[in-house]
Amino acid sequence: MQSDLMMLLFAVLGLIFGSFGNVLIARLPAGEKITGRSRCPLCGTQLSIIDLVPIVSYLALRGRCRSCRERISIRYPLIETASAFLFVLAHLLVPMQVPLALLLAVILWLLLVIAVIDASTKEISDILTIPFIVLCALFAFLQEDFSIVAPALGAALFALQWGLSSGKWIGSGDILVAIGIGFLLATPGHVILWLLLSYIVGGIVAATLLLLKKTHRQAHIAFAPFLAIGAIITLIVGDRLLILLP
Ligand SMILES: [Zn+2]
Repeated sequence: MQSDLMMLLFAVLGLIFGSFGNVLIARLPAGEKITGRSRCPLCGTQLSIIDLVPIVSYLALRGRCRSCRERISIRYPLIETASAFLFVLAHLLVPMQVPLALLLAVILWLLLVIAVIDASTKEISDILTIPFIVLCALFAFLQEDFSIVAPALGAALFALQWGLSSGKWIGSGDILVAIGIGFLLATPGHVILWLLLSYIVGGIVAATLLLLKKTHRQAHIAFAPFLAIGAIITLIVGDRLLILLP
């Protein structure tokens, strides 16, 4: 199949997964079951199929619920767009290998869902991290240069930070995410680069929030979003950055 057609296919799949991701993000932390048609979170009206088309429905309804006309959170189309971006990224990172690219796409999508739930609730659910680790391990074993040291290093570094801070800086869920990302990045060098990038991104965001007085020094900041951003940057430019390092 032609590459741009494949790219489009990945983007559309990404939108569909993004839509399902919104369901997980809304329902998992609330302990609701994930099956059943979505309802407007404001008026409870069950949404029809035409209201559930990713991005298109949001634009057509100008961001408002069809029945109560209340504003729908911009988070929904943003998650769908981010998911489509991650699917296309997976296709670009693993060109010519559709099953492997699909596996990577689902891994990145899961990481997105974990990060958004952590950002909004400060909780990381095992229901998401366990499949995340399993899929990352599967992806790792399909790589030629995978080293078991990578996930072990990820686990050790995060267990150390967890122990040192008695669970204050990071939660135990972060350790599980770190094991998964260790498998995903496959080499110890990539894992160290990932940790550095996560801290740089996290530091910049925390400093900005402090400057804007949107947070205070003692506030607990969810760490999974930075781990996710660090991992994605490492996947994209890690090989090039590691060559530059001594
Ligand atoms: Zn409504």
